[in-house]
Amino acid sequence: MSEFENVEEIFGKNVFTLGKMRQCLPRNVFREVEKVMAEGGDLSKTSAEVIAKAMKDWAVENGATHFTHWFQPLTGITAEKHDAFVTHPDEEGRTILEFSGKELIKGEPDASSFPSGGLRATFEARGYTAWDITSPAFLKEDATGKILCIPTAFCSYTGEALDKKTPLLRSEEALSTQALRILRLFGNTTAKRVTPSVGIEQEYFLIDREKYLKREDLIFAGRTLFGAPAPKGQELEDHYFGAIRERVGAYMKDVNLELWKLGVPAKTQHNEVAPAQHELAPIYENGNVAVDHNQLVMETMKKVAGRHGLTCLLHEKPFAGMNGSGKHDNWSIVSDDGVNMLDPGLTPNENVQFLLVLACIIKAVDTHAALLRQSAADVGNDHRLGANEAPPAIISVFLGDQLEDVVKQLVSTGEARKSKKSGKLMTGVSTLPDLEKDATDRNRTSPFAFTGNKFEFRMVGSADSVAGPNTTLNAIVAEAFCEAADVLEAAKDKEQAIHDLIKEYLTEHQRIIFNGDGYSAAWVEEAQRRGLPNIRSTVESVSALLAKDSVKMFERFRIFTRAELESRAEILYETYSKSINIEALAMLDMAGKQIIPAVMRYTGQLAADVRAVTDAGGDASVHRRLLKECTQLLKKMSEARDKLRKELDKAAALEDKKKQAFYFHDRICEDMLELRKHADALEMLVDKEMWPFPTYGDILFEV
Ligand code: ADP
Ligand code: MG
Repeated sequence: MSEFENVEEIFGKNVFTLGKMRQCLPRNVFREVEKVMAEGGDLSKTSAEVIAKAMKDWAVENGATHFTHWFQPLTGITAEKHDAFVTHPDEEGRTILEFSGKELIKGEPDASSFPSGGLRATFEARGYTAWDITSPAFLKEDATGKILCIPTAFCSYTGEALDKKTPLLRSEEALSTQALRILRLFGNTTAKRVTPSVGIEQEYFLIDREKYLKREDLIFAGRTLFGAPAPKGQELEDHYFGAIRERVGAYMKDVNLELWKLGVPAKTQHNEVAPAQHELAPIYENGNVAVDHNQLVMETMKKVAGRHGLTCLLHEKPFAGMNGSGKHDNWSIVSDDGVNMLDPGLTPNENVQFLLVLACIIKAVDTHAALLRQSAADVGNDHRLGANEAPPAIISVFLGDQLEDVVKQLVSTGEARKSKKSGKLMTGVSTLPDLEKDATDRNRTSPFAFTGNKFEFRMVGSADSVAGPNTTLNAIVAEAFCEAADVLEAAKDKEQAIHDLIKEYLTEHQRIIFNGDGYSAAWVEEAQRRGLPNIRSTVESVSALLAKDSVKMFERFRIFTRAELESRAEILYETYSKSINIEALAMLDMAGKQIIPAVMRYTGQLAADVRAVTDAGGDASVHRRLLKECTQLLKKMSEARDKLRKELDKAAALEDKKKQAFYFHDRICEDMLELRKHADALEMLVDKEMWPFPTYGDILFEV
């Protein structure tokens, strides 16, 4: 593709970047844009008109026909409603294309059918979208044509957040305000704003679309609900970082192209551990933009797959017995004058500002471990966290050798006199260079790991929006910074006070630090001894949102009101129940209309064969044994199906949303597993020609 000849030219082609605004806006208007971006506040009406016209001209020149306020309701994905630029035709039947400042800044999409958890009574179902000037507008380009997308926040008539962006932006403001107080304590007078830098590694599965379309479970639930293991899984570890097959490579190439045009800095691609599993990681960006871009990454991945006869599965656990997919949320905090507050430097023991920041983060994560865990909970992720897969459901912090050693010194003596040094890695081959190595090794099993100059929150699910996890992370750290600044600003001997506070925080919260193997059973016991929460499922996690400390914190920093939190909790319960209900119904359908009829055909065939073989004087004992085995399993499967159906009726009758969600979790999920067990056993016995849909082997190894 010729477009690939110059990546520099296509990068950001479909984005109304700051650079483009600088070019096409009058200088005073551009300055106003910069000011609002940096400091907040409202644009003047006249400037909004000028920007809207410039944006429309740019979009139309590039072939756009419509605009949309692009927002992120509580479904976890994005929403859009297109409006053409055309205006009422004049007397001669001509139209002109228009787009006003008002249309840019405010939308009223109504959009009353999104989950609101009771925040929007239907008689006042007004929802508004408001332009988020900090995330650039872009052109979405596909078979629909070109649509100018304006990133917006979505709020109710009464100002309550109905989306994921509003609280995220609120949390970034809180973090900025409190982080600046910390910087000021250390003599920084220049920084005006502190923003999270966020880099999101995205895992996914890619399978053949024809096969996908033959499986109702994949279509309706995004994951397989039946399926015996193939003879081969991921045990040879030959897929991880393996050579990329051409069909997959052609897909990746297209995904990159689309993302670069959208200004998403897609950087890394590789095969992941499970067969048919891959990863894409962009370069980190300002948190809010990174969150928007992750939505574009997910959408682009799904869209481009269709063009290649493939389907991209973002579900956290599409295939049992194989690794699931996650999303690593790499997070650091950087001031506008370029200080990464999480950069320890070469001698962290001497970097007091870093140590205070670290102590605050450790305190925040320990204090709000359950809340942080909640932020990564969703129905699909239950199959990873706390199930037979990593990362574990227990929140802990990995610091690595060097920092752990510094923390130990601080806790025991109140002083850290030295930092472990890095050193050279000896390759032992004279023709190979000896490498400088980092002072700290990696730990892949920790849910919250310090990796050089950032933390990596590894619990997030692959299909989930990263807005929630980042909102929580920003909020809890803002609170810890605020509490530290309250003490330190009032202290007479500031240096001593900082020193004491670091020691106090680290001593009180060191239980959250764990450098060992997070996957081991021993850690589960050890964590229990330390009193760390082990929250194994989404339904159990929701209450953390409404815990006293959580509500207090969110309200104090104006990130969520209690009403917003209550509505979100209700939506979480409701979404959980609905999702499991869909899975259960898909199972009933597949069992009743596909698997059971196939087994009946097969056993009918076997029965006829028994008779024919016996009549012909042969030994039909193998036929008979197989027939018996299949009919016994069929009976059990049919009983499990009946039970699931009855239980679903009971679940549907429950009115309390929380009780209902727990019922789905405790009972329905068990019944589904029981049904699956017998069906999978049958899959191993029934003639492959008769099995009604593609198997794991067919799907995972023949992309
Ligand atoms: P891994 O070895 O875990 O795959 P990478 O070095 O590939 O990690 O980085 C993973 C992600 O972290 C990338 O998106 C990268 O841009 C991002 N990242 C790197 N440095 C920072 C930072 N200081 N703050 C936030 N994200 C960062
Ligand atoms: Mg990583």
